Amino acid sequence: MAVTVIGGGLAGTECALVLADAGVEVRLVAQKPVKRSPAHKLDTLAELVCSNSLRSDNPENAVGLLHEELRRLGSPVLEEADKARVPAGDALAVDRDLFGKALTARAFSHPKISLVREECAALPEGPDFVVLATGPLTGESLAADLVKAIGAERLAFYDALAPIVQGDTVDRSIAFAQSRYGKGGGDDYLNLPLNKDEYERFVGELLAGQKVAAHDFEEARYFEGCLPIEVMAERGRDVLAYGPMKPVGLRDPRTGLQPHAVVQLRREDVAGTAWNLVGFQTRLTWPEQKRIFGACIPGLQQAEWVRLGQVHRNTFLHGPSAIAVDGSLHARPHVFPAGQITGVEGYVESAAHGHLTARRILARLEGRQLADPPGTTALGALVRHVTGAAHPEGHDYQPSNVIYALFEPLVGRHKKHDRKTKMMERARVALQQWGALAGVKVREVPERKAAVPVVAAELPKSDPTTRMVEG
Ligand SMILES: Cc1cc2nc3c(=O)[nH]c(=O)nc-3n(C[C@H](O)[C@H](O)[C@H](O)COP(=O)(O)OP(=O)(O)OC[C@H]3O[C@@H](n4cnc5c(N)ncnc54)[C@H](O)[C@@H]3O)c2cc1C
Repeated sequence: MAVTVIGGGLAGTECALVLADAGVEVRLVAQKPVKRSPAHKLDTLAELVCSNSLRSDNPENAVGLLHEELRRLGSPVLEEADKARVPAGDALAVDRDLFGKALTARAFSHPKISLVREECAALPEGPDFVVLATGPLTGESLAADLVKAIGAERLAFYDALAPIVQGDTVDRSIAFAQSRYGKGGGDDYLNLPLNKDEYERFVGELLAGQKVAAHDFEEARYFEGCLPIEVMAERGRDVLAYGPMKPVGLRDPRTGLQPHAVVQLRREDVAGTAWNLVGFQTRLTWPEQKRIFGACIPGLQQAEWVRLGQVHRNTFLHGPSAIAVDGSLHARPHVFPAGQITGVEGYVESAAHGHLTARRILARLEGRQLADPPGTTALGALVRHVTGAAHPEGHDYQPSNVIYALFEPLVGRHKKHDRKTKMMERARVALQQWGALAGVKVREVPERKAAVPVVAAELPKSDPTTRMVEG
């Protein structure tokens, strides 16, 4: 059986190479240079469309841990990233040309891979397995065919990310726990009350704050249901107070009164370590979000951010309802979505998801189902995100980088500064155990070393116009 991989990006290239290295015939359909998305410029596979950074390489950081796990699993993308590394402090940044060319050469010269340079306009029929790895800018015809297969409500074309704050950095002397009209558990939300002056000051800063310019291919067309807060504020100074900041059904227990406006925080993870600012999707630049939210929203003065808000062109499936436990599409069981189209976000996360998809298909070809990596590992945290297991019920599914809030929470109480080390140590053991159970080779890798200069540095930018998460 040959496996068709559609899309030669981070996920598709990783998936194709892992399958081929295991002896599977792969047909890799990559549309460049015949056709390219507005963001893709190079002819090579695995193109890094923006920043040349794969973010922090420190394994105490969730993405650094994901790097380590991919190295331990023998990921071709990580192997070539390490070879093309440029000095960038804590980050794994690469010479994008060397990186892309090396992966392209590997795929071109691989005896098990046939590279087909064409656009795929429709999902191929089964029964042979198909990997759908066409990324955030999936071609229109293919996206239309996908909608036919799964239903329009399960495919989004824009993300709308509200910021997420670390729960223990919210000032609980200001926040009060309450649901609107006492619905649900009665205290499901945390509410940050604003008086009229505070609200006016916030709206003023929001209107004046610096915004991220839209790319040419991003229309200033938003779904009414998820307008950025600054767009709402432009429509009228009171619009937010009647929209996401409406105070109706809430009473501040300290005053006994309804506040003028509120910012509501909703749990992002079951354990409540991370809280989402409800309805606060925004195109403010990241430094402006930190400054304005910290200065103008009572209770967020000391906020540490798990994620900041953004709105991007981004084609992605509703993972929890569209994708089955074995990673295939419910509606087309021979099709395995991989990478960013599943709702993971970022170069490394997409490559990791491509790797996992290859492993799942290899297991299927052996007549078994791959056990999911444990939710205590970074790879397993991505699975918890895509399946929805990491999120509370009714959660608005949006793309996510790998973050510790997606992991299974630590058992017991731990000092804040010990938590990341504990999670890293737990993940290292868990990956080893999973490998033994799932029949996946997990190798020893040396502890992370300082960056080795390979070529002249092109340092990663902490540029708010990118999707790069700092740190
Ligand atoms: C403007 C922009 C900036 C970004 N900046 C960053 C950043 O700084 N850091 C970061 O970590 N992530 C960034 N991302 C996200 C990052 O690009 C993705 O996470 C990652 O590339 C996704 O990998 P993928 O393999 O799923 O998709 P991609 O890497 O996009 O690969 C998909 C491939 O499929 C091809 N394709 C699409 N449709 C078809 C078709 N019908 N037939 C055949 N081939 C097709 C595309 O040409 C592409 O080569 C950015 C994304 C965009 C759009």
